[in-house]
Amino acid sequence: MSARKTDENGTPADTITFLGTAGARFMVSKQLAASGGMWLDWNGTQVLIDPGPGCIVQATKRKLNAEKLSAIIISHRHLDHAADANVMVEAMTNGGFKKHGRLFAPADALGPEPVIFSYLKSYIEGITVLETETTYRAGNISFRTSVKHVHQVETYGMVFESDGQMIGYVTDTRYFEGLAKSYAGSDLAIINMVLTEPRPPVDHLSVPDVEKLLGEIKPKIAILSHFGMHVWQARPWLVAEEMSQKTGIRVIAARDGMKYDLAQLKEGQV
Ligand SMILES: [Zn+2]
Repeated sequence: MSARKTDENGTPADTITFLGTAGARFMVSKQLAASGGMWLDWNGTQVLIDPGPGCIVQATKRKLNAEKLSAIIISHRHLDHAADANVMVEAMTNGGFKKHGRLFAPADALGPEPVIFSYLKSYIEGITVLETETTYRAGNISFRTSVKHVHQVETYGMVFESDGQMIGYVTDTRYFEGLAKSYAGSDLAIINMVLTEPRPPVDHLSVPDVEKLLGEIKPKIAILSHFGMHVWQARPWLVAEEMSQKTGIRVIAARDGMKYDLAQLKEGQV
């Protein structure tokens, strides 16, 4: 048996929880799946990534305590990635009474139409503007932004690193040459896959794009999320299974509330 770290309830200490798997407008507005983003709890640090609509509902339902967050990270200003930023800042700081934590977001998420209300800015330690291919730190986790994605608004994916392991988060983008190199070395690749087939000019990844990316990134394991309607109808877990067979890389489809145990990356149990 491995000496796996657990918390006081016996659940794995190092996890990523999927607070939603819905991507793009229709899935989100109909809430066919939840859309709350991801909660990373790693090496004693907790960060929230892309708090979409319903994040507060999903997080509290899963007994995740926002006051323990060190940071909220927003990859881009679209609603399905940032709608609950304000309420999560309030929850992180206990209504402003416990000032702490940092918000990370690209410059255009903070411009004339900011994703965060001005009165909430004083609740946190500060805001860091994300730039391309730059390394940042939140507690025990460091993360490096990707090249700029091609996605209507200023968008960066990121590679999180802690304890010698790397988790790539390929957020919304269209496929382009040079995308994969930002995520090289990721042990786990989390990929937002909205489409079954490329649908230009829609700036989202499709099944063939993701297959190509997996061949380039070569992670130990990939988790697909952020499903559009067509992927949903094709059943994401079947799409993932087929992709595994085609690429030889273990691919799984996230489910709402899924908690992935990051200790598996280290132990080679993927
Ligand atoms: Zn988007």
